[in-house]
Amino acid sequence: MDTILVVNAGSSSVKFQVYAIDGDGALRRQIKGQMDGIGSRPRLRASGPSGDPMADRAYPIEAVADVPAAMAVAGDWLRDELRVTPIAVGHRVVHGGPDYSRPVLIDHGVVSRLERFVSLAPLHQPHNLAPIRSLLANFPTLPQVACFDTAFHRTHDAVADHYAIPYQLHAEGVRRYGFHGLSYEYIARTLPGVAPDIAKRRVIVAHLGSGASMCALKDGCSVESTMGFTALDGLPMGTRPGQIDPGVVIYLISEKGMSASNVQNFLYRDCGLKGLSGVSNDMRELEASADPKAKLAVDYFVYRIGLSAGMLAAALQGLDAFVFTAGIGENSANIRARVVEQLGWLGGTLDPVENARNSRLISRSDSRIPVYVVPTDEELMIAQHTLSLLMNGQSTNPRQERVS
Ligand code: AMP
Repeated sequence: MDTILVVNAGSSSVKFQVYAIDGDGALRRQIKGQMDGIGSRPRLRASGPSGDPMADRAYPIEAVADVPAAMAVAGDWLRDELRVTPIAVGHRVVHGGPDYSRPVLIDHGVVSRLERFVSLAPLHQPHNLAPIRSLLANFPTLPQVACFDTAFHRTHDAVADHYAIPYQLHAEGVRRYGFHGLSYEYIARTLPGVAPDIAKRRVIVAHLGSGASMCALKDGCSVESTMGFTALDGLPMGTRPGQIDPGVVIYLISEKGMSASNVQNFLYRDCGLKGLSGVSNDMRELEASADPKAKLAVDYFVYRIGLSAGMLAAALQGLDAFVFTAGIGENSANIRARVVEQLGWLGGTLDPVENARNSRLISRSDSRIPVYVVPTDEELMIAQHTLSLLMNGQSTNPRQERVS
């Protein structure tokens, strides 16, 4: 049976999934795996379609020193032990820059263009590109597809794409790109099946995970996002601050003597829920904690989601539905209840029983706007894009033609 491999490579882990292509072209998840502890304590874990364990094994550090080595070990395991030889590989690539408004079949020219965006996403882009390069070198005829977190937002109007800075910087690429696009695209495609009456209307989607952002959808297209130039902006996250006055960054440099890389590490790793609470970056631990600073962090998270809902409702000129997704959005009834309370003025009223059950629809029948919980699936989105590029020579997203 033909299969597609989906790869999501980070600095210390490579996540992968294998999808079988059924006769009717439907995709079925067969394997979900991860090589983590790259360069420290490498470990391969994998499970089957119903979570049944398939592998859990440690490797010596020299065997998995970097991302390409992790990719090679995982690839050998798939090929030698499971006889999986994918017909194509789909990659999550965080940054498509201003040029890519849809997934793209990879060749050396594409890799060179994507390398230009390393400076825009230095913590992610190099790791996303590393397995692409090694697969291109070792399996030059294997089709590879890059799917971007930024692409879904390329439908934004110019006013949503700009900062009020000299135009030259915009031309250089300093723009409000928006991220989590694969998640929002999956939700936009799933909504017609979940709620056909609102799928084409004005919807706010809150992707609340360890990274968090919100997106305003109109007619299934992104019109505004809380994230901007980098994945630091917008909502507070596990370890990132969300919206912050640039004056704070100037203060850190001029008064605290921090270098650019210190500031970068600080903003990506030491802020957000972790920095504010001093307890944890994990919402489950914060919800369970009696520490007043943990409570402040949760209050801040909820407050900023409420503020952002107001901003996105203004961009949409109204609101017809609200959707929760990702780790916190799909699992924390408490956070959902508190957010819906914030949405009261926009017309959201919670059904506490359905919310506690993690039901699909969690608002009351008399709520002016329906509130949904829709689990996201970014990997399936990547697999679908990869398959359609393979079959049709184009991605399944014909709406997004504009290259800004
Ligand atoms: P994600 O990045 O989408 O995988 O989400 C990961 C985050 O979801 C974790 O860091 C947790 O903070 C959060 N999470 C997962 N399950 C729960 C839960 N039951 N209650 C609260 N937060 C949760």
